Amino acid sequence: MPRPIKAYIHPGAVRHNLEFVRGKAPRSRVWAVVKANAYGHGIERIFPALASADGIALLDLDEAVRVRQLGWKKPVLLLEGVFAASDVQMADELALTVAVHCDEQRQLIVATKPKQPIDVYLKMNSGMNRLGFTPESFRAAWERSNTSAGIGDITLMSHFAGADEGSIDWQLEQFDEATRDIPGPRSLSNSAAALWHSRAHRDWVRPGIVLYGGSPSGLAKDINDAPLRPSMTLRSELIGVRTIRAGETVGYARTYQADSDMRIGVVACGYADGYPRHAPTGTPIAVDGVMTRTVGRVSMDMLTVDLTPCPNAGIGSTVELWGEHVKIDDVASSSGTIGYELMCALAPRVPVSVTA
Ligand SMILES: *Cc1c(COP(=O)(O)O)cnc(C)c1O
Repeated sequence: MPRPIKAYIHPGAVRHNLEFVRGKAPRSRVWAVVKANAYGHGIERIFPALASADGIALLDLDEAVRVRQLGWKKPVLLLEGVFAASDVQMADELALTVAVHCDEQRQLIVATKPKQPIDVYLKMNSGMNRLGFTPESFRAAWERSNTSAGIGDITLMSHFAGADEGSIDWQLEQFDEATRDIPGPRSLSNSAAALWHSRAHRDWVRPGIVLYGGSPSGLAKDINDAPLRPSMTLRSELIGVRTIRAGETVGYARTYQADSDMRIGVVACGYADGYPRHAPTGTPIAVDGVMTRTVGRVSMDMLTVDLTPCPNAGIGSTVELWGEHVKIDDVASSSGTIGYELMCALAPRVPVSVTA
């Protein structure tokens, strides 16, 4: 019998969340973002839920190949574009749309002479200061691309640095000003802007985290009134139970000391399964559906919980690490990170089941 830990992926939740985003941005087409193997869910597992998306956006060519093999005929966008001539050839064969964030990428496409013109997303750096042409150089970049052999339709793209926590106006102004008289569709909005900034929706939105029911800001409260459903549940069981006396400590480095006699449970889940080691005492967790808290350090294969609120729990009791009852964003905030990271970090050793 394997360890009792298991992850459950819910394509039905992804389908539901996709429809919710669509309703939020009814005049825009939707790229479903499935980079990082669908934020740790597994592209193949959630693929059936994406049928109504207008396109699939990702980073790795290997993922683009898988999506085409699954039979996806609609557009596929490579969010960081191409890095070598062989990538351009693949993009040509697989009919991919590719981001172009610098002139080297444009030159690579031209030099590789694709058989079919490749559609591009010309990216502006409107303030994020990672990838993209500056607003001042954008028009010239567009003109060069527009007259380049091997380049097809051009969409104007940018990415927000702070759509989650406040204003996007400064970036939107940069973008609108610099693209004022340039034709072509626009794509600006990640999940945060898709949910909270309708003036940035434009022609194509690019939601990622909301498809998986996570909060774009990292805070559960920010999506409280959005009817999103979590698409990943991580569950395990108690494999040990003991009573400790007041004054005794639990786990490595003795970070938790009991104030009074108490029962603790040992859960078959640790940081080697993808549970954050930084989760401190007090991180929410559910045992037999009852909310309680972790106590002490998370170890590689185990963690410990306070069984005070669940006196009937024993070996074999079900533990939810995150999912329906325990919000992944709450586990993440308690651990100093965001739900995105926890989803992506689900370890390969954890068996996965796909449920409805
Ligand atoms: C990852 C990514 C997205 C999706 O971001 P979320 O915050 O998960 O919605 C959108 N656009 C680009 C360019 C990305 O890299």
